[in-house]
Amino acid sequence: MIVRTVLGDIDPAELGQTLCHEHLFTNPPAWATHEDSDMVLHNVDNAVSELDDFMAVGGGAVIEMTTADYGRNAEKLLAAASRTAVHVVSASGYQKGIYYPDSVETESVDELAQRFVEDVTVGIDGTTARAGVIKYGTCRTDRIRDDEEKVQKATAQAHLATGAPISTHCQAGTLGTVQVAGFEDHGVDPNRVLIGHVDRNLDYDYIRTLAGTGVWLGFDHWTKPKYPSDDIRISFVEKLFDEGFTKIMVSGDLGRPSYQPSYGGTPGFAGLTTQVQGRMNDKLIHQLFVVNPSQFFAFEPVGSR
Ligand SMILES: [Zn+2]
Repeated sequence: MIVRTVLGDIDPAELGQTLCHEHLFTNPPAWATHEDSDMVLHNVDNAVSELDDFMAVGGGAVIEMTTADYGRNAEKLLAAASRTAVHVVSASGYQKGIYYPDSVETESVDELAQRFVEDVTVGIDGTTARAGVIKYGTCRTDRIRDDEEKVQKATAQAHLATGAPISTHCQAGTLGTVQVAGFEDHGVDPNRVLIGHVDRNLDYDYIRTLAGTGVWLGFDHWTKPKYPSDDIRISFVEKLFDEGFTKIMVSGDLGRPSYQPSYGGTPGFAGLTTQVQGRMNDKLIHQLFVVNPSQFFAFEPVGSR
């Protein structure tokens, strides 16, 4: 089993303390950045600074969840990763329907899947950086759009062809159970899926139902003042653990300049880590930050060199 970083495959035990859903470089479509200027992360020096700050508080790895439709930049990921000891994992797949390129409409499911497979097995955008996870997301809170259903099928195919795990975006934390059902219809084991942003929707019954399907849960919106407080997150994580649901990972999804100190923002990867870890016991922290990511992001590469 390996974890596939942009600089190469590593032993899962080398990951260390891992943030399961972060961003170092983003560049969403122009219509989106026109409405909201706080969306673009572009600076390699700033990324290195974030990663080094994270390392200084014990950080080992960052799963960089920016996809092609949100401005993923493999060259910059390689440049940043080569200047720090923190491992960086990049993502294939797409973010969500509103950001899809026009090609999603014209390409077949097989063509989309093939593109994702090549990200994982060959390299992203002609670089040596290979993706270690495949992202999937939905942009509505009531139903999955038709184009997103098409991409979900392609995501499942690419996962089955490569072994790379699937990590999702749930709009405001919703539709997690619908996403799981779709993946199961396409033959994906829920144990290979991380449902993201569930802590945007802190309804215990919903999250417990989701946990019962066998998926992993992303509590990946800690520290953000505009969303429910970390007190609720902690009580939910502890309650889930008490009930035997321990497949949980942590992150901040700090994909804006205003969240990263190198751009003048807060709290950054390091600030998030110290804030979260200061509030839970060591055993819990070790499982959330180290043990769980080393299990979930590990895979046996299928048909690769
Ligand atoms: Zn994100």
